[in-house]
Amino acid sequence: MDSLFPCLAHPDGRTVLTVGDDTYTDRQLLAAARRHAQALARAGVRPGDRVGVWTQPHLGTVVAVVGGALAGVVTVPLNPRLGERERSHIAADAAPRCCFAARPEECPDGPLGRALPVTEDMSEDSCPEVHEEFDRADDRPLLLIYTSGTTGAPKGAVLTAAGVAANIDGLARAWAWTAADTVVHALPLFHVHGLVLGLFGSLRIGGRLHWQPRFDPAPLAAALRGGGVLFAVPTMYVRLAELAEREPSVAADLGSARLLISGSAALSAREHRRLAALTGRGVYERYGLTETLIVCAVPTSGPPRPGLVGPPLPGVEVRLVDERRHSLDVADDATLGEIAVRGPSVFAGYLGRPDATAAVRDADGWFYTGDLATRTADGAYRIVGRRATDLIKSGGFKIGAGEIETCLLEHPEVAEVAVVGLPDDDLGERIVAFVVARDPARPPLAEHLVDHVARALAPHKRPRDVRFVDALPRNAMGKVIKAQLSRP
Ligand code: ATP
Repeated sequence: MDSLFPCLAHPDGRTVLTVGDDTYTDRQLLAAARRHAQALARAGVRPGDRVGVWTQPHLGTVVAVVGGALAGVVTVPLNPRLGERERSHIAADAAPRCCFAARPEECPDGPLGRALPVTEDMSEDSCPEVHEEFDRADDRPLLLIYTSGTTGAPKGAVLTAAGVAANIDGLARAWAWTAADTVVHALPLFHVHGLVLGLFGSLRIGGRLHWQPRFDPAPLAAALRGGGVLFAVPTMYVRLAELAEREPSVAADLGSARLLISGSAALSAREHRRLAALTGRGVYERYGLTETLIVCAVPTSGPPRPGLVGPPLPGVEVRLVDERRHSLDVADDATLGEIAVRGPSVFAGYLGRPDATAAVRDADGWFYTGDLATRTADGAYRIVGRRATDLIKSGGFKIGAGEIETCLLEHPEVAEVAVVGLPDDDLGERIVAFVVARDPARPPLAEHLVDHVARALAPHKRPRDVRFVDALPRNAMGKVIKAQLSRP
């Protein structure tokens, strides 16, 4: 059976991890992870048990999740900024046997109990033996990840070791990702992007990971020097581009990367262009969900494709379906359908929620993402938005919010935008644009923005209302929380 992290099964003393300024070899990481596996056993944890890890921005978080994987436990990564209600929900839902933290004294007390400390002892000696048979890429549950709840109460998605391994292997093919690569990221470890792709991906591929626990654009760009691979979310690319405009060295650092990858939300075509102009490099997008891991990725054997998330990852089946979940045989880049996914990385279900699982996955194994997209003639997908929050039903038309957002972002005086449908007696829903102006002191006239959309798109797609705001409500991954904008 395939080992989940071959570099830890056969360590040879190479550097595999940099956290901040400190570097560690595979032997050091393995020794620390094994010590943590022992600590788990001392705490009465058995293989298959659920264990919370407060994913604080410290080395100990890496030790705890890697040690948990080696010990065969199901790690429940916890965002240290969870609110009281979310903590109670997860405590009741996941009932973890215990929780660990690099800095227990900084963790909230309460329903999840007092956290146990993770030791950050990275010395190679006194490396205890643990049950290495658990380091297997098999069907055991590996992670229980709570969705961030942009579309409702958080649900715990169970991901298997085999599913995680298959997804990383598919990405390796799409991106020609090898043990020679250094992945650089500044993402939190409670979400699949930073944890599964960044940390587990790098360990599985056997390359190096440079993890910056707190996002800071200048050192992040510097870490790319010499051909690094950057995993980041769109808001990070925006911050990097802003800095690169002022600092030529940052533009040069970004330009020296082997690969720039963006995901978790859409990177606008304007940001694609700005980054390419500044750095001479394009950004490759990929698309996925917690429940399915990565579904589509633009392959790096060809050029970047702004606005598209690429074809399905090797080994993954994707199709567009209509509202009755019938397959749509379209490739016109115009007809909207919901993305359905089937493949080895689709989750094992929501913990304790067979009803919620059955609502999103059918008997044939197709998972319905709730994301709306079109498909191009050559089989790439264009994400238009989410069915629940981005499909606006106005005056008998079905309108994708994403198309209007893309159009408004082309306006030079618009910095950020979110379009929602708000209840309207006449139209059913009324298109409302929340806009952050490039110069907040001098926002453009609302009529100008409406005219801008009216010139580019059909008349029923123009916003009825434009509201200027200082900032859009975003979650930790930089995604706009539309539910907050839709509140009356
Ligand atoms: P919840 O599922 O609770 O609403 P969430 O949005 O954070 O929370 P995730 O599983 O983290 O859930 O995110 C998956 C969603 O992110 C996808 O369904 C899609 O809407 C969006 N997404 C991911 N990558 C891209 C991309 N490249 N372009 C556009 N949207 C993307």
